[in-house]
Amino acid sequence: MSPRSRRVAICDLDGVIYLGSDPIPGSADAIGRLRSAGWTVFFCTNNATRTPAQVTAKLARVTGIETPHGDILTSAVAVARLIRPGERVMVIGNEALVGAIVEQGGVVVSDNPEAVVCGLDISAGYATLRDASLAVEKGARFLASNLDASFPTPDGKWPGAGALAGVITATTGVIPQSAGKPHPPMRALIRESMQERGIPADSPVHVIGDRPDTDIALAATEQGWSSTLVLTGVTTDPHSAVPPPDRVASDLASAVDGLLGEKA
Ligand SMILES: [Mg+2]
Repeated sequence: MSPRSRRVAICDLDGVIYLGSDPIPGSADAIGRLRSAGWTVFFCTNNATRTPAQVTAKLARVTGIETPHGDILTSAVAVARLIRPGERVMVIGNEALVGAIVEQGGVVVSDNPEAVVCGLDISAGYATLRDASLAVEKGARFLASNLDASFPTPDGKWPGAGALAGVITATTGVIPQSAGKPHPPMRALIRESMQERGIPADSPVHVIGDRPDTDIALAATEQGWSSTLVLTGVTTDPHSAVPPPDRVASDLASAVDGLLGEKA
């Protein structure tokens, strides 16, 4: 860690800051304390169905946390960065994913694509999955915003982007390149966002999340990155977490207590 290094927190949203549309108590205060102690906080989500601006608005509405759009890192933005300018792209996903792809210069098409990008589309039907499978079978690049198999709702688990991509994989035998946590495109987006703010690349990064396979795994393979698993989301038994986190905390407020206590 060089003298210019700054401490960076990568904070997951659902299960850490809020649960659906309910704030997790103490999370806004915890983010405020981290920022007051000089940390830079980025919010990082595999949810590809909201634009960074929409996430900013939700954060403010649900928790009162104010943050610029540029500090919101989504898997939609991460997968869009894999698209080449002018590339013809078939998209399974909503307007947030389509918008991110168009912003990167992709041309959204419904036939003869050079790439298929699969995210979450709760209205996707058989014809959509058939056309995407046919395109991948014919050689289109196959990309996914994330491979989360499901997401929690008040009814129980609903099929996630990974489940939809799984239909195309089962049909074609092709596994998509995934952009979301814990995969390299999201780590690249985090590093670029740090660089844009003048944060030295060797600055320590601490990931706080509720999912071992995405949030904790994001930190597990990077030199100088560490993690805290919080128990306000999908994980209730930290002992079975794979990969194991560096720290476990009951919630974000205690995670931040631990981080700031270490610094003092
Ligand atoms: Mg989460």
